[in-house]
Amino acid sequence: MRLMKIVVIGGGISGCICASQLAKAGHEVRLLEKGRGVGGRMSTRRWGDARIDHGAQFFTARSPRMLKYVEEWRASKVIIPWYDQIPGRADIPVGIRYRGENGMTSPAKYLAQFFSSELSFFVEQIERLENRWIIRERDGMNRVLEADHLVITIPSVQMLELFARSSISLDGDTMNRLRNINHTRCLALLGLLEGPSVLNSPGTRTHPVEEVDWISDNQVKGISPAASFTLHASDDYSQKYWDSPDEDRIPYLLEVAEDCLKSKVLEWKSHRWGFAKPTTTFGATHWHSREWNLSMAGDGFGGERIENAALSGLDAASAIQAQA
Ligand SMILES: Cc1cc2nc3c(=O)[nH]c(=O)nc-3n(C[C@H](O)[C@H](O)[C@H](O)COP(=O)(O)OP(=O)(O)OC[C@H]3O[C@@H](n4cnc5c(N)ncnc54)[C@H](O)[C@@H]3O)c2cc1C
Repeated sequence: MRLMKIVVIGGGISGCICASQLAKAGHEVRLLEKGRGVGGRMSTRRWGDARIDHGAQFFTARSPRMLKYVEEWRASKVIIPWYDQIPGRADIPVGIRYRGENGMTSPAKYLAQFFSSELSFFVEQIERLENRWIIRERDGMNRVLEADHLVITIPSVQMLELFARSSISLDGDTMNRLRNINHTRCLALLGLLEGPSVLNSPGTRTHPVEEVDWISDNQVKGISPAASFTLHASDDYSQKYWDSPDEDRIPYLLEVAEDCLKSKVLEWKSHRWGFAKPTTTFGATHWHSREWNLSMAGDGFGGERIENAALSGLDAASAIQAQA
């Protein structure tokens, strides 16, 4: 087997699981992430004494490959089952929802121990030079890396922007399929509460009103010492108010939050998730080219849900292994 120098762009679950798999196989792997930590949309924020999951809230696992990770992560105290049924909600399917031990970033942080990462590294440009990839950082420290093989796991719109900045165009069919990937948007509201909410275990309420998909209490969830909440607006509400100032879109959401939680919101922050869940996908779990020495993965390929993003990253890793 030829051991390669591999750069993975994107530190979400697809990038982290792909990088860990390749590093375990002996390749020299470096993951580049524009944020200050790994996790991507599996994001947990510290805020005073509160810990808030403000992107993905839980994950489920059905495939044997994901269940193997679940077993390992449970044994290493990285995840725990959160709930499998909400009392009185027979309409919500039964099935174990897992949460990170310290919030949803826990699995990505655990995986990151197996490879080296460069954080706060925004990839500005990639270039093919004599069978190798050159990867350049935007501003910052102007870091430049080289790789035999490149894996890109960022949302498709950002992939297309990266290709455009780099004057790279793959074949027409692949470019069209990338352009067809679409994601919903999600306006998130997170906040600190004056006291415990009235939500009983597991601490969630779905669709309390048409404009809100999800509200949860991070303290009841078991990840936050302080009373705090996460609210996700519906795609329709998020689209409608995407470019509005907070004073237009937040008061109504605050009203819904206080009404559901029966606790006063002391402080709040809003966050705009531009790529929440894919509504159309690439049409294959990953893309891999021996000719380009390039692979692409992520939920835009694997499909909605963390499990599918993870499996997409694993499929990309297997394709690279098969060519090594
Ligand atoms: C509000 C919300 C709620 C959700 N709820 C759930 C849920 O409860 N259960 C579930 O299963 N799924 C849920 N999802 C979906 C789930 O989070 C995603 O499907 C999954 O996390 C996607 O992982 P990924 O690796 O494909 O992408 P990401 O997690 O988006 O990772 C991509 C990474 O690339 C980085 N990046 C982008 N551009 C660059 C660049 N130029 N240079 C360097 N790095 C870059 C980003 O910072 C990011 O970390 C939710 C998503 C959102 C937004």
